[in-house]
Amino acid sequence: MRYLSTRDKRTRFMPADAITMGLARDGGLFVPEVLSRLSTNSLKSMCDMTYQQRAVFIMTPFLEDFTASEIGSYTNKAYSPEKFDTPEIAPIRPIETNTFFLELWHGPTSAFKDMALQMLPHLLTASLKKKLEKKNVCILVATSGDTGKAALEGFRDVDRTRIMVFYPRDGVSEVQKLQMVTQEGRNVGVCAVEGNFDDAQNGVKAIFSDENFRDRLEGKGFFLSSANSINWGRLLPQIVYYVSAYCDLVKEGRIFLGETVHVCVPTGNFGNILAAYYAKKMGLPIGKLLCASNSNNVLTDFITTGTYNRNRQFHTTISPSMDILISSNLERLLFDLSGRDDELVAWYMQQLSETGCYSVNPTIKSKLDNLFWANYCDDEKTKLVIRAVYGKYNYLIDPHTAVAYDVLNHYRYKTGDYTPAIVASTASPYKFCDSVLSALGERTDASGLELILKLSELTGTTPPKPLLELGNKAVRFDMSVKKDEMLRVVEDMLK
Ligand SMILES: *Cc1c(COP(=O)(O)O)cnc(C)c1O
Repeated sequence: MRYLSTRDKRTRFMPADAITMGLARDGGLFVPEVLSRLSTNSLKSMCDMTYQQRAVFIMTPFLEDFTASEIGSYTNKAYSPEKFDTPEIAPIRPIETNTFFLELWHGPTSAFKDMALQMLPHLLTASLKKKLEKKNVCILVATSGDTGKAALEGFRDVDRTRIMVFYPRDGVSEVQKLQMVTQEGRNVGVCAVEGNFDDAQNGVKAIFSDENFRDRLEGKGFFLSSANSINWGRLLPQIVYYVSAYCDLVKEGRIFLGETVHVCVPTGNFGNILAAYYAKKMGLPIGKLLCASNSNNVLTDFITTGTYNRNRQFHTTISPSMDILISSNLERLLFDLSGRDDELVAWYMQQLSETGCYSVNPTIKSKLDNLFWANYCDDEKTKLVIRAVYGKYNYLIDPHTAVAYDVLNHYRYKTGDYTPAIVASTASPYKFCDSVLSALGERTDASGLELILKLSELTGTTPPKPLLELGNKAVRFDMSVKKDEMLRVVEDMLK
């Protein structure tokens, strides 16, 4: 299977190229030329497989320059007992007969980013070998919290890679910060940037577009790459857990093989829900794709009106991983729904960068209506939902997951459609202790670690081990710089 750019479909790329390049030269995103089919029989056979085996089964057809045994060795390393605290890897947690939380946060950093970022380093380093690339990779990440830690953990001590993560000094949760500044590994660096996420992000973009720096880097035997969710190597592993969840539901007798389930996803960059869309297109019996946003509801408006408009106020919320106004992966959906009209997609994206706004044509709009339903949930409601779910089901959810659950309920109430639904649970509640405790009516004026213990005591639940161990770890990275000093920090790391 080859890959095309969403802005120019004339050239076909091998998977290893798509993964090492990340983004196409024309600024487009790589998409598979065809999607493999999941027949009812293949779903049936996957019911008896482990998560790792399912991952090999699903990913192999997409990676034609890799063998199944290579992919098998990556999945065994990525989804190993050392990394994930449950052998199911992505367990289903039913709370009602027709509502199933898909827990995607049992990996080393307690957020769903691990599902992909444990896999990406294996795909990337193997791609370098296949392409006979001599240079090593220098990965730069600007993070609002979850991506940075998951990327650090995924790339730590991985041969031929260096990774530098920049986070906004005042823009991440206590626990998230502690996770990053105590990061272990010989090839990692972490640095706070004075300012907000946009400052960190713009700083990284400036480094990427500095030709002079790229030349110096090449002289040292490195090229720049990024670990954000536009890389196909991050999206592909996300298709796996939707299929796996479906198989688990069949196996446990909660649905019958072939039965339709809806999927509801707390959405930011549109990566996670796009993976569900691909799974549906491959033949998984998914009904509606429910797109849940917080107060940054640019996607709610887009899906309901067909107009994408980023010219609006940015809100800082208690579900920070969804505080996004430009959802990059939407471009892949537009490419598909337009019947692969690369010129139209390029035109929409040009309008977006020049005016911050574009409207899709009626054909795309009607496809959107059939596939998706969207709504949003603000912070106040999010806290009520966390409290209500805990009260009613004795089950703790994080703010992102609460947003999704609220949107599912909203959909059901509005439409009367009570089809079984999978809700993507994207972070452990312990990662956002302060918001969760405050939702439960508790005080939160304490350190990150104290809050973890307090939540545990209050609810009788066990915190993820890596979070508990944060207290014993030394702070390794206490550097904080101005935006214009970021380049020097990267150069120092590569000395
Ligand atoms: C990244 C993230 C999201 C948003 O996922 P996208 O793929 O960017 O839409 C939602 N919840 C959590 C906890 C996240 O870390």
